[in-house]
Amino acid sequence: MNLRQTNPVAMIDDLKALVECESPTDDLAACRKVISLASEISKRVTGKSAEIFDENGRPVFWLGSKNPKVVLLCHLDTVWPIGSFSPLWEVKGDIARGPGSYDMKAGFIQALYAISQLDLDQVALIATTDEETGSATSRQLIEKVSIGASAVLVLESAIDGKVKTGRKGTAMYTITVHGRAAHAGLEPEKGINATVEMAKIVETIIKLARPELGTTVVPTLMKSGTTTNTVPALATLEVDARSFAISEMERVEKEIKSLKPINPDAKIEISGGINRPPLEESATKELYEICEKAAAKLGIKPIGCAVVGGASDGNFAGIHTRVLDGLGAVGSGAHALTENVSIPHMEERSKLLVEMVNEILK
Ligand SMILES: [Zn+2]
Repeated sequence: MNLRQTNPVAMIDDLKALVECESPTDDLAACRKVISLASEISKRVTGKSAEIFDENGRPVFWLGSKNPKVVLLCHLDTVWPIGSFSPLWEVKGDIARGPGSYDMKAGFIQALYAISQLDLDQVALIATTDEETGSATSRQLIEKVSIGASAVLVLESAIDGKVKTGRKGTAMYTITVHGRAAHAGLEPEKGINATVEMAKIVETIIKLARPELGTTVVPTLMKSGTTTNTVPALATLEVDARSFAISEMERVEKEIKSLKPINPDAKIEISGGINRPPLEESATKELYEICEKAAAKLGIKPIGCAVVGGASDGNFAGIHTRVLDGLGAVGSGAHALTENVSIPHMEERSKLLVEMVNEILK
């Protein structure tokens, strides 16, 4: 190991610089700045400059192999508008605070120090800038690099120190009912009531949930009708559906798409679908075993694993290859003002990453 790798002071200084360069997803100029700063830090830590390029109009950081066997996957955008934190950066004892420190700039620094110890012909460190809004511009790139890789290690933060071996997938549906308007007092029987139709649909939909499997199907936003004395001709309902299993998500989709109206003259229209597939434990099991083996070898206590509701870029990678997520910062408070990082764990988790990659490449 070189000097910088064993120097936690340098890691924390680099994290400070990266956090102070605020980078909310919707501020493109700020995201360009953070990527270029990341490349400067990379040059200092690894001796190599990263390639910076635009993918669908947004900056991406890429260091190392063009056809990596192992991908270290990060994002450098944050959910915090500029000026959200005061002070912007703070260290108290073993804890560092700042916007995006835990989600996930500390993870990026850990990966950077790790890759300085690794074979750049076989490994790549990639950082995108639109993860927090769903990775619309970077999804293709993530999927493409995942197809050729034997493992994708995602540097999202750990949860209670544990890695993430499962993430729910998400689906959104809009259900529209077309009825027929009529005077509610004079001749309601000539109308087709879209509210009544939608009420039946809500009842059907909530029964699609399977809490015991972690499948949720939640009617959220609903609108219907025009005036208080008109039979509603149009109703819309938004549905949020999530699950740990793709088979579950497909079951829910099939049921929603085959909804039938009570009144045969009413029309039901469905749009939307699955947007992030779940990260299933079958995709993470092997790498989790390697992770615990690496921890034992380094004399670190067992890492532990957890499944979580939120999705990440690991969900896209997991369609194509083995994935382990939550290998980044130890701390707490993602997307909260309490966001914080455990400083001593940064070096430890960085070493864990080196050990894991070497094991995967064996
Ligand atoms: Zn994140």
